[in-house]
Amino acid sequence: MFVGDYHTHTRYSDGKGSVLENAAMAKARGLTELAITDHCFHLFGRRKDKFRRLTIECAEAKRLTGVNVIAGVEADVISLEGDIDLTPQQLAEVEYLVVGFHKFAPPKSVSDFFKMYFVTYFNGLIPTSAAAKARNTAAVIAALERYPVKVLAHLGHSLKVNVGEVARVCAERGVLVEINAKHLRDFKGEWQALNESGANFILSSDAHRPSEVGALEKAFQTAVEEGISPHRIVNYRGE
Ligand SMILES: [Zn+2]
Ligand SMILES: [Zn+2]
Repeated sequence: MFVGDYHTHTRYSDGKGSVLENAAMAKARGLTELAITDHCFHLFGRRKDKFRRLTIECAEAKRLTGVNVIAGVEADVISLEGDIDLTPQQLAEVEYLVVGFHKFAPPKSVSDFFKMYFVTYFNGLIPTSAAAKARNTAAVIAALERYPVKVLAHLGHSLKVNVGEVARVCAERGVLVEINAKHLRDFKGEWQALNESGANFILSSDAHRPSEVGALEKAFQTAVEEGISPHRIVNYRGE
């Protein structure tokens, strides 16, 4: 019923399993494709270059399981100008680019930390101001315009943005809006805007342990209950 899971983590960043373990679970759940999308700040942080090893392991897991294992990354928007945490050379090696925002990713500058990151540490306690939300929205849209983003991860999670406005840009640019099994709550009150944006969607487990790989049913059910047509979910293939 699902073709693939395109947002999963391994020990290459903060996941608990190996590439092969994720691939084995994908196969057990009947998926034909799997993307490993570890965090860039783990893969490429300070003189590290784990991405090449990850690529080799993905090819090996593909050979052993028959699942098409794609070496991707989950990059971060790290500035108000929409910079992401990949150099142009690194970007050239990456064929599957998922972009999100994580408050633990190193910001580009001190000013970005105070203007963009700081308030995300107090989500739920301090509301994001309308001005900050507009700045954040512009930052995410700039990233979509500057980079070959395939999937926008957990839109509206942590970094507060105008979800409908960002989703409309995703629709224009052919970027898939992720329906993340771990962050369904962030779409509360936003489903109608998402639906009206015209964007297409992709279901992701955002698995951080092998047992979670391919567990997409709940996200699928929620999306459909909220009015998203299954035809707009690219990794769903009917019964
Ligand atoms: Zn993430
Ligand atoms: Zn993730």
